[in-house]
Amino acid sequence: MFVPFNDLKIQYTKIRSETNKAIQRVLDSSSFILGKEGEAFEKEFARYCGTKYAVGVASGTEAIYLALWSVGVGAGHEVITVTNAGVPPVAAIRMTGAKPIFVDVNEYDFDINPSLIEKAITKRTKVIMPVHLYGQPANMKEIIQIAKENSLLVVEDASQAHGASYSGKRIGSIGDIGCFSFYPTKNLAAYGDGGIVVTNSKDFYEKLKLLRNYGQKNRYYNVVEGINSRLDEIQAAILRVKLKYLNKLNKERRKIAFNYSESLENVILCPKEINGRYHVFHLYVIRSKKRKSLINHLNRKGIQTLVHYPIPVHLQEAYSFLGLKRGSLDVSEKLAREVLSLPLYPGLSLEKIEFVCDTIKSFEK
Ligand SMILES: *Cc1c(COP(=O)(O)O)cnc(C)c1O
Repeated sequence: MFVPFNDLKIQYTKIRSETNKAIQRVLDSSSFILGKEGEAFEKEFARYCGTKYAVGVASGTEAIYLALWSVGVGAGHEVITVTNAGVPPVAAIRMTGAKPIFVDVNEYDFDINPSLIEKAITKRTKVIMPVHLYGQPANMKEIIQIAKENSLLVVEDASQAHGASYSGKRIGSIGDIGCFSFYPTKNLAAYGDGGIVVTNSKDFYEKLKLLRNYGQKNRYYNVVEGINSRLDEIQAAILRVKLKYLNKLNKERRKIAFNYSESLENVILCPKEINGRYHVFHLYVIRSKKRKSLINHLNRKGIQTLVHYPIPVHLQEAYSFLGLKRGSLDVSEKLAREVLSLPLYPGLSLEKIEFVCDTIKSFEK
């Protein structure tokens, strides 16, 4: 049996006519940038997150970049984040000219370990940026408290956690600013690139609106320096359709995840949902000390898997200038050797889930 890692076509097929109509509406309006669809989507997404404002941008990476820029992060500053979430959040920090400071993560939630944050704070620190990895919310209570005590801001990288919540509050709305990506594989996804920034601060909101559009207040009247990073109307129209189904699709992801856990709990290390946190399972990530042979075993049976992520950012060649050696972030490095993401997407059949579980069981025997 072939089990792909992901299948975006299943989702599209279900909303085909509705989506096509939305795209056609934009084409007929001939308004492609900063029009009605984007404005409506920003309102709808802000309402969904429980924030006052949202600003659509061109990608998740630029959502983070602009969020950091809007709060005044630049060269000479430091941003505290994690090394196990792939390169994008770090690339965004570097785009501002600031330096990423990595704090190790917990084994039980894959997220930043709050007890290590304080030691990493210097007088150059401006922002703590947790990443809600794989859809599991980070420990926001402790992060917010540390930020308050040290007069720092919290920017959430919620690119893998659309619809997740912590103590009943939507992820992205808890820190000062929340950043989302709409890359096609995310829980809420465009059919191309896109991103959004949410906040309750009128100041940050107004700054973000300027920064994403060359710093223009009115046409050709530029009050600050900015860039071009806008969510286009076609993507916004598509996202308006898909937002209506986000809760339902997240529930389906959770159901698949709990099916996996029920079957594999005593066989292999499974991800756990922490009390008080609503996990949206962007990815279902198990751990194995024999990962390479497990991947090969699954692959031989037709099951695709991926590793998120094989090399922690501080050990990537591109970031060698940061001067961090192997062994400097123990837990993150250990997880990078062991993590394995199983197929998980809305529409994944029970039959396929059982086949994946049986195949893992036959390997572990
Ligand atoms: C996808 C992702 C991003 C970047 O999003 P893009 O839209 O691809 O730029 C940032 N952070 C995390 C954790 C992501 O998973």
